[in-house]
Amino acid sequence: MDLEGIEISGYAFSNIIKMSGMFNSVLKDIFKNHQIDNFEPNSWYPVNSFMDVLEEINEKVGANAVHKIGLTISKTAEIPIEVKSIYDFFSNIDKLYHLNHRKDGKAMCDAQTEQMQDGIGHYIYEKIEYNNLKITCTNPYPCDFNLGLIEGFAQRFATEGKKIYINHSRHLPCKKNGDASCIYFVTWV
Ligand SMILES: [Zn+2]
Repeated sequence: MDLEGIEISGYAFSNIIKMSGMFNSVLKDIFKNHQIDNFEPNSWYPVNSFMDVLEEINEKVGANAVHKIGLTISKTAEIPIEVKSIYDFFSNIDKLYHLNHRKDGKAMCDAQTEQMQDGIGHYIYEKIEYNNLKITCTNPYPCDFNLGLIEGFAQRFATEGKKIYINHSRHLPCKKNGDASCIYFVTWV
C-alpha cells in the first residue's frame, strides 16, 4: 500500500503518551526516532512514520504494547457523531477512520458528503447476529493494533453489563500469515 502523502491526526498520539504510564519515556523515544516529538493534537503526521513507530514498539516492547496502543486510542478518541449503540459505532468506523487521515492536505472523508478517498484500506462491518459482528480490516495497520482498537471500541459502546469477546482465531484470515486482511468477530453476552 503506497502511503506517501497520507497523514494521521496527532490527536491519538497525545493520548497514547499521556496514558502510557511506565512505558512513557520508552515510547517518547521511539516516536522521536521517527520525527514525531511534539504530540500536538491539531497537527498531522506521516502515516509511514506512525507505521515505523508501531514496528519499533513491537520489536522493542512487544506485541502487547502495540495492542495496548490500539486500546488506548479507542478508549480516549473523541467521536464527532452521536453513538447510541455498538452497531452505530461499527457502522461508522470506516468513516471515522477516514476522517482521521488526510491525503495531500485534504481530509480523506468529506464531512458533508461523507465521500471517502481511497488509499488507506477499510474497516468493513457486517452484522451477523444481534450480538455478533464481523469486522474485516484491509487497512495498513498491524493486527495487534487493530485488535486493541476493535476490542476497546466494542467495550466502550457495548450495553452496560455485557462482556465482549473478540474472536481472531488462527483459522481466520490474518495479515500476520500473509493474508490481505484480518477478520475479527465481536460477540457479547
Ligand atoms: Zn490478524
